[in-house]
Amino acid sequence: MSRQVFINGELVPQTEAKISVFDHGVLYGDGVFEGLRIYGGKVFRLEEHITRLFESAKAIWLNIPIAYDAMCRAVNDTVRANGLSEGYVRLIVTRGVGTLSLDADICKNPQVIIIADTIALYPSELYETGLEIVTASTVRNHPAALSPRIKSLNYLNNILAKIEGMKAGCIEVLMLNHKGEVAECSGDNLFLVKRGELFTPPIDAGILAGVTRNAVIELARAARIAVHEIPLTRHDVYVADECFLTGTAAEVIAVVKIDCRLIGTGKPGPMTRDLERRFKELTTNC
Ligand code: PMP
Repeated sequence: MSRQVFINGELVPQTEAKISVFDHGVLYGDGVFEGLRIYGGKVFRLEEHITRLFESAKAIWLNIPIAYDAMCRAVNDTVRANGLSEGYVRLIVTRGVGTLSLDADICKNPQVIIIADTIALYPSELYETGLEIVTASTVRNHPAALSPRIKSLNYLNNILAKIEGMKAGCIEVLMLNHKGEVAECSGDNLFLVKRGELFTPPIDAGILAGVTRNAVIELARAARIAVHEIPLTRHDVYVADECFLTGTAAEVIAVVKIDCRLIGTGKPGPMTRDLERRFKELTTNC
């Protein structure tokens, strides 16, 4: 199906939505992005995503050429123009056209691109059985080199980890940080359940501050489940009662095996199921 894509302030058919090969987004992965979900025709946690986009841009000295409110409107307009009630939005801001030099000052016209489309979740049977994952040898970006809080167009760190996982027959992989602690997965945040309490790495473990992660923490606290944002080791994952991942595309999905070790009973656990249900309710009424 042909989509209407927002680019340079207007909606155009997808075949006309083009950027230059001299755009530093193409040449260097220089830019930022967001992935958002549409539930019942509404964008889930739009403001939180746009705030993260502007913060990612600020961290890399990228001036987004449209204001915060106009960006929110542009996302909503793009969703409406494509008549989507359930779907996914990819919002991209590239550095713009430059030269073959690294000099970002030459790039005077950052490009704002918004694509709204249907979504490919993990295969539905995996929501019943849970995922098997492995630990990648690729370490998450050192926060002092390129902060994982920046959702930049340079996703090679995550892509390399994901390739390792796929080669091992796993659709997702655990990434450790430079200290050897649990960070996150290639495109999802990670949670553990132990003795009825929830554990997840803190943001300063060098992870993306996931919008779904935030939502799940809020849901858990509202349900009087204790949530601990503390450094975790691989050992903690091995001996957890339950493990699950969160992400805009994945929502909430159980992990039942890691590095050839069963987690808990080897089946999605009751707290994972409960939070999955609470998250579904939240998105239904968003
Ligand atoms: N970590 C990484 C590295 C991600 O790319 C993502 C988004 N796909 C997430 C975590 C989850 O974040 P969110 O819930 O905001 O989608």
